[in-house]
Amino acid sequence: METRLNRLTKTDWKDLKDIILFGYGRYGSRVLPYLQKDFNIVAIVDNDVQKQGKIVDGISIVNLKEAQELLHNYKVIVAVQAFFYAEICKQLEEMGLREYDDFIIWSQFFPEWYYKYQKKICVEKTDIVITSFCSLNCESCSAFIPYIKEKKHEKLKDLENSIRLFFERVDRVQDMNLYGGEPFLHPQLCGIIELLGKYRHKIGYLGIITNGTIIPDSQVLHMLKKYHIGVSISDYSASIDYKGKLDRLCKILNENEISTVRTVNMIWFDLGFPRKKMRYGREEAKTHMTSCNTACHDLIDGKIYYCIADRAAQLGGLIPYSKKSYVDLNTIDKDSLESRKEILELCAGNIEGGYLDFCQLCGGFGYDNKDEILAAKQINKNVKDNEDL
Ligand code: SF4
Ligand code: SF4
Repeated sequence: METRLNRLTKTDWKDLKDIILFGYGRYGSRVLPYLQKDFNIVAIVDNDVQKQGKIVDGISIVNLKEAQELLHNYKVIVAVQAFFYAEICKQLEEMGLREYDDFIIWSQFFPEWYYKYQKKICVEKTDIVITSFCSLNCESCSAFIPYIKEKKHEKLKDLENSIRLFFERVDRVQDMNLYGGEPFLHPQLCGIIELLGKYRHKIGYLGIITNGTIIPDSQVLHMLKKYHIGVSISDYSASIDYKGKLDRLCKILNENEISTVRTVNMIWFDLGFPRKKMRYGREEAKTHMTSCNTACHDLIDGKIYYCIADRAAQLGGLIPYSKKSYVDLNTIDKDSLESRKEILELCAGNIEGGYLDFCQLCGGFGYDNKDEILAAKQINKNVKDNEDL
């Protein structure tokens, strides 16, 4: 298979020192500290008028017009999710800039530049699945929780093994979340956080993704604070009646000085599976996977899976196992850069044949999925699970 770390071909990328960051949303604000470690940030550009004129760490946020001259003098790193990149590409190209010569999306820059010029393995995002138990039962759950028969909490010793294997082979991960299911249900959550704490210096943003139905106890709150772990709350109160509990959770997190992001009015792409399976042909599946372009990879059982939905369907026993879905970290030589590069290729979507088997059945997260739905519609409410709401 050809490499996907092949965009930075111009030699002037090598001695990069000064750059412009394009995008200062939730994503860009997580990327900035990384860039500041190694580069001088000349300016931040953002299309949002609310952000323009602000100063972040001494760096001005400016609009496109104000940055026009600078943009022609410095390389531009675009820190937005792939979904929004096409629009920014268009804006920059209209100004005469060329993708990969003058600007590049962070998700390509981060693994490729550090591999080529610093001999490091840097992964944009890998999450850790810790449980398949959940307090909700969402019909269109992308982890297919309602359809998994044998639910389980991941064992501490298995997680320890996966985490060790990962950090022996990966130099930095920019974004890492614990999730499930509902991670606050895991009885050994403090132990899991302690395991990650050992590697905290290698992790940029470390977070936990919750549906907000569980209030963590004081020990968990202490651990979240100790290791600077952020909490991302998916607020499903538009579909489920639990706003009071969400407010209480936010208040407690705030009192404990734990960084919290609460996302409301969420719209999901309905993957369809397993209720209604797509039937993409082989060639179509390649384009379909490219349009999906998922950035969410999972660490579990000593393996990194390219796609969370594919992993959940396989490990949940809903589809057959497929070896091309993951890299087994046990087979990666931790002392060989070339061997470790396999991790970067997987995360870049360099999959044998150009698609995952599951892409043929799955609606995906890309622009070709027109099935947008209100998040968290519940099915077969399990009174026992939900009585706590
Ligand atoms: S809250 Fe809903 S979407 Fe999230 S893991 Fe549970 S069932 Fe799935
Ligand atoms: S289309 Fe493919 S890559 Fe995208 S979510 Fe579905 S299985 Fe994963």
